[in-house]
Amino acid sequence: MSFNIAIDGPAGAGKSTIAKRAAKELSFIYVDTGAMYRAIALGLLRRGTDIEDEAALSAALDETEVGIRYVDGEQHVYLNGEDVSSLIRTEKVSDMTSRSSAIPVVRAKLTDLQRDLARREDVLMDGRDIGTTILPDADLKIYLTASVETRAKRRYLEQVQKGETCSLEEIEKDICERDYRDSHRETAPLRQAEDAVRMDSSDMTIEEVVAEILRLVKERRAQTSCIFGEHREADGSQDFLS
Ligand code: C5P
Repeated sequence: MSFNIAIDGPAGAGKSTIAKRAAKELSFIYVDTGAMYRAIALGLLRRGTDIEDEAALSAALDETEVGIRYVDGEQHVYLNGEDVSSLIRTEKVSDMTSRSSAIPVVRAKLTDLQRDLARREDVLMDGRDIGTTILPDADLKIYLTASVETRAKRRYLEQVQKGETCSLEEIEKDICERDYRDSHRETAPLRQAEDAVRMDSSDMTIEEVVAEILRLVKERRAQTSCIFGEHREADGSQDFLS
């Protein structure tokens, strides 16, 4: 039986940094579901698909295959066989992702892939609907949030470090728009699962959040008295496809 951890929360709450570190400590596989939605969005942008046009969207999705593979413990995401991991972090892709991921057929495309991974492996999966929809029986659910100001500032510093010019106001506005869309859509909206532990990282360091997650895992493991195997690395030769 695999042990599954679901981490949900709004954009910029630090989910991926924290989830990556915690997964490493636990020797779990880190599954970044946002990257999968981003890969689909990139494909739609490249094709110039009008996502309001049901037939066009459905035709595009039929020709879209998303896959993930672990290389040296890092998740890489593939769009029709091409590694697009470094192409999916632009603002344009972020915007298309939050629009397209609200559409049920787009979500349906990734549901099985995500559930299948969790069935087979000990995973720490992050996203928006993991605790509520994808893994309702996850062993531990965390809802990680932070104030909009904190999240915008973190994104801003990230961009500056990458040498990109950007405005803090613009980033804050984008984050608010994405939060609104993600939490107001009809299908699998972003919300805290009833049984999730809420963590506000506004005044916490990454190390403090990771330590708290590890403490909660230990507590849950003791409660469920699961038996865990030895250290396991994700098998780099294994592919997971939508
Ligand atoms: O987590 P990340 O910022 O990469 O996610 C990008 C977008 O993908 C989110 O704003 C959201 O619209 C969508 N997403 C989603 N469900 C998930 C993960 C991401 O709808 N499980």
